[in-house]
This record gives sequence, C-alpha cells and structure tokens, in this order.
Amino acid sequence: GGGGQILAETLRRQAHACRDRTAFVFGERRTSYSSLDELTNRVAQALAAAGCEPGARAAVLAGDSDHVYEVIGGCAKAGVVSLGINWRLAPPEIRFILEDSGARVLFVDAEFYSKVAAAIGDLEGLATVVVLEGAVEGLTAYAAWRDAAPAIDPCLTQSADDPVVQMYTSGTTGLPKGVVLANRSFFAVVDAMAAAGDGWIGWRGDDVSLLNIPSFHIGGLWWAMTGLNAGATGVILRAFNPGQVIDQVQRHRVTKVCMVPAMMQMVLAEPAAASADWSSLEAIVYGGSPIPRTLLERAMDTFGCEFAQIYGLTETGNTAVCLRHADHLDPSGERLKAAGRPYPGVRVEIIDREGRALPPREVGEIRVHSPANMLGYWNRPEATEATLRDGWVYTGDAGYLDEQGFVFVHDRVKDMIIYAGENVYPAEIESVLCAHPDVVEAAVIGVPDERWGEAVKAIVVRREGSDLRARALLAHARASLADFKVPKTVDWIDALPRTPSGKIKKAQLRTPYWEGRERQVN
Ligand code: ATP
Repeated sequence: GGGGQILAETLRRQAHACRDRTAFVFGERRTSYSSLDELTNRVAQALAAAGCEPGARAAVLAGDSDHVYEVIGGCAKAGVVSLGINWRLAPPEIRFILEDSGARVLFVDAEFYSKVAAAIGDLEGLATVVVLEGAVEGLTAYAAWRDAAPAIDPCLTQSADDPVVQMYTSGTTGLPKGVVLANRSFFAVVDAMAAAGDGWIGWRGDDVSLLNIPSFHIGGLWWAMTGLNAGATGVILRAFNPGQVIDQVQRHRVTKVCMVPAMMQMVLAEPAAASADWSSLEAIVYGGSPIPRTLLERAMDTFGCEFAQIYGLTETGNTAVCLRHADHLDPSGERLKAAGRPYPGVRVEIIDREGRALPPREVGEIRVHSPANMLGYWNRPEATEATLRDGWVYTGDAGYLDEQGFVFVHDRVKDMIIYAGENVYPAEIESVLCAHPDVVEAAVIGVPDERWGEAVKAIVVRREGSDLRARALLAHARASLADFKVPKTVDWIDALPRTPSGKIKKAQLRTPYWEGRERQVN
C-alpha cells in the first residue's frame, strides 16, 4: 500500500534498490535505474521552469523511446499529468486532444511535427514545445532542454490518488475522452498480485520485458510500469513490428512479453517465428480484445511458455481480471473460454438493465470495482457519471460469471446483434471462422435486414492464394454454431481496419451498410 503506489516514489526507490541495473534499453541506448532517477529529476525541474504547476498537462506525440519514459516519470515527479497521443491520428484529431487537455507543454518527434505545426499558434495554453527525437529548426531539442535543468528532486508531497496520466480512448466509441488515472491505477493491482502470490503474473528484478505496445495505450504503459515496479529491464520498441519482436526477444533474452491478440497473430505469421529461439520466454500476457481459440492454441504451441490473459479497460486502469497459466491447462478446455478471475481486492458483477446484480451464468453488462479504476473523464462530468458510479466502472461489455467467479466476456454490448430476437455476440462467431485453415482474420457485424432488423454478416481475410468460397466457409461455421449465429453473407477484404490496440474498427466496417439508416444500439 501507500508509498509504493506512487510513480515518483517508485523511481526514487529503484534508484537505490537497483542502481546500475538497466531500466530501459532502446536501440543502442541503455538507461540505468540511477540515471533514470536523475534524468526524471531534471525533466521535473525543467517543467517547473517552464511554468508547469502540479496538475498541468503535458502532451507527448512521439514514437516510444527511453526519452518518452523519462518524460512520463519526470511529469510524475513534477505532479504534471502526462498524456500520450497516438501519432497515427490525423492533424484535426491531434488538435482536438491538445485543446481538450489544455496541454501546456508538447513533446514531439521531428517526424510528427508537421501534424501539429498548423495548430500550434492557435493553442492558447501551449507555452513550450520540445523536440524529442530529431530536430526542428527554431525549437528546443529534448536533451539540451533536460540537461540545462538541475538534477534535484522536487520532492513534492503526493498521494496515490493524485492524477498522473490522462489516456485518450482510441475513439471506437465516439470522440476521444481523456481517462484520468491516478498513481494507484498502475500499482494497486500489481501489489495485490504480489501479495497473493499463487500463480498470478509474477515479476522478478532480473526479468527482461519487451515494451512493444505503445505507451499512449493503457496496455503498454501499464506493462512498462509493472516492470519498473519490479526493477526489471524494459526493451523498448519505437513502434510495434513483428520482425522486431522476434529479433529483440532473441537478442536480449526477453522473459516476458505482453501482446494484444492481433500482435500475436502478426508475429506468428512471420516465417522467422517458426525457427526463432523462444527459449528465454517465461510468460506471455495477452488481452485487450477477444482471442480466437485457434490463435491461442497456436501461440501456446509456438512460444512454449506460460500464458496469462488479462481483461480490462482504460477506465479500469487496465487489467481487472486475469486468467492464470494453470487455468489454461484445464483438460476440459472450458476455462480457456473465460477471461479469468478478478484480482484480490477487485470485484466484478454482472447486472441487468435496471442495475441489479445477476446470478451466475446469466448474461448482462459487466461492471468492475477496482482500486485501479479511473478518477473520471477529463472535463466530461456527464460521461463520467454514466460510466463511473459508486466506485464501479460500467464497462459496456456483455458477459457472465460462472459459479467459481470466472468472468466470460462475450463482446461489447453495442456490437451485439439481435437477429430474430436472439442475441448474437460477434466474438464467438469470429473465433469459429478463424478456425478455418484458410482464414487469416474475420469480423462479424450486424447489417440492416428488412425482416429481422439486423442480419449477421462476416467480413473475412483469406489466406493468400486460397480460393475459399462463402458456401464452404458457412458450412464450416454451421458445424459448430447454432443456425441463428451463422452469417447470412460473407464479404472478402484484404485486411481488417484496426485500432493501435488491435481492436477491429467495427463502426467503420458497418458504415457502408447502414448509410442513411439509424442502427439501434442495444
Ligand atoms: P474505446 O473505448 O474508445 O473503444 P479502446 O477500444 O482503446 O477505446 P480500451 O479501454 O483499450 O478501449 O479497451 C477495452 C475493451 O477491450 C473492453 O471493454 C473489452 O471490450 C475489450 N477487451 C479487453 N480485454 C479483453 C479480453 N481479455 N477479452 C475480450 N475483450 C477484451
């Protein structure tokens, strides 16, 4: 508890406990824990000199690097809330986030500067722009800016409840909202895991973890923070790339990796994956979207290490539920359908439309009570009130619990299809379609249907060179799905549109079929 749940404290503690041990590897650069402590002190001082009071916002528009993590840590020491922006966003989307957050400082890579150049003059609150990687004429370079400040810890009095990070949701549900997370969001669940022992994801100081999920996404930042908390070494990728994963795991003898299912699939699709030396891997943690069963089985087979699934949202500070390795080995295979059980100190309930808790095996909305839950959405009191009530986050996911408290996640409520009065959850159908040997990936959506309101459509990526037809694919689906779940039609596509966190952009796929009509959200 307490002091261990504050990011600034974690950095100070590790400077003594780990000293020369490597905190981060980025290409040829290495940062020890003691220099990370010193550099984050400098960043904190430079922020203060730039007029950042505690509670101010600092935005980062950059590929991942050791510098990005220095900025996040330096902000934490200055009491400044950092926010990572997805660099794939278009200029107006980035501008929206800069305006919404009221960022006072912007850290930007030269590579992405053109995306903000036009907006910078109009942003009233923005006082300082620092170039992280590369150079932009007339702007301060990060290393010079940082090193001009003294390496003195500002030693602010901070609490585990103070905001430290503001993460913008990827916007699959509308305009991005800034999810404000407190220090405790990053450490409460880790502490609970460590205290419980007992097969939860365990960390050791000599772990080497791969940081391949972007830090502007909760999965990436949470993973990096849990490693830091253990004094482990994090190997940073500037951006996810399957070939780099294979290369870096072998080069640095990586022991732990966290991946969303889409990343796992991309790594396994690399020809080099089959002959790579995966022997250093001890655990793969995966989650963030439903995982097709065949993909999980292939991954377990190829990587040959322990597996743990996590379930959670940005709003729940990432993981609230974990399917431990032992649960993956259940001979009936039944447990593999679950996302796991809540961590000690976390509660999960299933509720009906009136908000009443439902008994085991009844499907409803999942709600989560966790010490890692967000403080709220930035400047969005109504959205906060709709999502966070009495400490519970209402997830918008449909699912059920079994008698042992395992959580089964069906899918997002808004992606559910009601066909002829039956509830159809796309994730289950996608998993079946992906089990066909000629299918690379598949999305299932609801499209307008005169008679039934909505019909089930599959959008499928075929293996290269395959001449798979709808008739054969649907026969395969019919063998393991009830009739009402079997897609009525199949469209073929080259690749599915995905968010950086690997989620299929369902709304984008639905749009062409719904033009001029309103889709009822259940
Ligand atoms: P937005 O809220 O704008 O759509 P996002 O999709 O990036 O943004 P996240 O907070 O990253 O939001 O995603 C949380 C969602 O991911 C959950 O609500 C759930 O639907 C899905 N998810 C996460 N983990 C799992 C899992 N293990 N199994 C199935 N679905 C999962």
